[in-house]
Amino acid sequence: MNHFEEEAWVDYLRQLVSAPRAAVMQQHLQSGCAHCENLNRAWQEILDVFSRDGDYNPPESSVRIVKAAFDIPQKIPFLQYATNLARAFAQCGGSALVSAPAAAGPGQEK
Ligand SMILES: [Zn+2]
Repeated sequence: MNHFEEEAWVDYLRQLVSAPRAAVMQQHLQSGCAHCENLNRAWQEILDVFSRDGDYNPPESSVRIVKAAFDIPQKIPFLQYATNLARAFAQCGGSALVSAPAAAGPGQEK
């Protein structure tokens, strides 16, 4: 199953995607994809918070920090790789880490 990225769901929720793309994304949700449903729901809640306080304008310094944080992976390819790796581990419940001998840390039995 091909999932949509978080950025795509944000654009979807903000109605910034084309009608055909929105239809495809809606169909994907209706197919029962729990991964994308969770992303969609989480971002809907975040956007709801922001829309409730419509007059709120974050300080420019905060906007700059957030933009920089999202921009780092594109500037440093390794970080993008590491991010993808972390997501993959999270999606498999970290079981790959648990079974790896090198993953045994302090306080864990060997
Ligand atoms: Zn999906």
